[in-house]
Amino acid sequence: MEKKELLYEGKAKKVYKTEDPDVLIVSYKDDATAFNGLKKGTISGKGAINNRMTNFIFRKLEEKGIPTHLIQELNDRETAVKKVEILPLEVIVRNYSAGSFAKKMGMEEGIKFSRPTLEFSYKNDDLGDPFINSYYALALDLATQEEIDAVTEYAFLVNDVLKEYFDGLNIDLIDFKIEFGRYHGQVILADEISPDTCRLWDKDTRQKLDKDRFRRDLGGTEDAYEEVFSRLGIQ
Ligand code: ADP
Ligand code: UDP
Repeated sequence: MEKKELLYEGKAKKVYKTEDPDVLIVSYKDDATAFNGLKKGTISGKGAINNRMTNFIFRKLEEKGIPTHLIQELNDRETAVKKVEILPLEVIVRNYSAGSFAKKMGMEEGIKFSRPTLEFSYKNDDLGDPFINSYYALALDLATQEEIDAVTEYAFLVNDVLKEYFDGLNIDLIDFKIEFGRYHGQVILADEISPDTCRLWDKDTRQKLDKDRFRRDLGGTEDAYEEVFSRLGIQ
């Protein structure tokens, strides 16, 4: 599998075409951004960690019946994936208050919910990914009702699998963002699951092991990513 033309360069990954129109190669960068691109930096080693962690998790999710875009890990930073038409929705699941939720609801961070929440943002950088509900998505033809139903069911399933898995690593899964795409009439999980897209707190120390260290200038960002990676025990 070989990289051809660069299709898209995003904030955290480059996406290349291949000789197969159904297959893309994603290349994970060390670049980090926050606050819709306002804050920029580098997290050394992040690309390889996020690539390998995403693939490890996607394989676990596949075993639990959640279809994903994963085809094959090519090297530390690069993976062949099924080319999907990304649904322009950021799907966010939360188990504890944090980030924009805590701010909006006037709550401190780290309060455990009685049950998980699910929310959508419209994936649009110019608008700063605004919060929307499923009626907006339907009204604007961002997704069909069937797709929203599939996304909702998969998102809670991903949460169940990840929560249990991170529990075993002494980590609380606070919240996370996932993306889905259309692939030959099916909705499948795409993009990534990594400390860039999840909030992960050590159960004992409540230490943040995720991108909030970069967002909030807490220091020790590289160490936090490496800590999560080492707990995963990926060979
Ligand atoms: P951003 O676009 O937010 O800066 P990235 O740097 O992570 O994000 O860029 C990767 C882009 O590739 C994202 O827009 C993501 O939606 C898209 N993408 C992820 N997986 C696939 C896939 N399987 N097929 C097509 N596009 C994908
Ligand atoms: N998230 C993400 N990309 C985004 C926005 C959020 O991966 O563009 C993740 C974020 O890392 C967190 C979860 O989604 O795990 C919820 O984020 P929140 O809405 O609290 O936004 P934030 O506080 O990051 O602005």
